[in-house]
Amino acid sequence: MDIRERVRAILRALPEGVTLVAATKGRSAAEILEAVEAGVKIVGENYVQEAERKHAVVSREVSWHFIGHLQRNKVRQALRIFDLIETVDSAALAREIDRVAGETARVMPVLIEVNIAGEPQKSGVLPEQLEGFLDQFANLPNLAVRGLMTMGPPVADPEDIRPWFRKMREMRDRLRDRCRENISMDLLSMGMSDTWKPAVEEGATLVRVGTAIFGPRN
Ligand SMILES: *Cc1c(COP(=O)(O)O)cnc(C)c1O
Repeated sequence: MDIRERVRAILRALPEGVTLVAATKGRSAAEILEAVEAGVKIVGENYVQEAERKHAVVSREVSWHFIGHLQRNKVRQALRIFDLIETVDSAALAREIDRVAGETARVMPVLIEVNIAGEPQKSGVLPEQLEGFLDQFANLPNLAVRGLMTMGPPVADPEDIRPWFRKMREMRDRLRDRCRENISMDLLSMGMSDTWKPAVEEGATLVRVGTAIFGPRN
């Protein structure tokens, strides 16, 4: 199968309400365009500069999601390219996005990255800190929280990730009841090449798939 066929196969398998994000780090603009021709509507990039180069070539008709670790000094560049930042993981980053978005009278949609398994080396807000974290967004009028994102812990068997994804879904549902003006919980980004199927079954609305579309990374 080539890129187009793999995209079509995944799109056919996704139920309504779930959107494929093609994770394109390390892939060329030509590869991305193949995926877009086959129906990809959202491109996910991990690095701002890499995304800038490709954005200049691929910008038509697709949304761009930032899915990497965003440094505060890259926020201005990032806001020029991306339609959604999936990985807000600190109050300092949230404040900086709010500040820069405010300069252009823009409201920037974001997801909160959750470190669902509490892995020490991983970024993301810890589940038990999430409510307190969200309380700070009341003072950030130029940010709109649209939901949650997680990488999830590494697992040997894709089925082993299911309880973590379920926990994400339950947390999202609980937070839904406490939504405020600039906080909604309609998006849940979880699942990658090996795990997008259990993720969809557990309620993902965005799945981020790289290798299963483009083949192994070198
Ligand atoms: C690379 C990446 C993916 C996709 O990973 P694959 O295993 O190649 O599908 C998903 N999410 C994030 C945040 C990534 O960096």
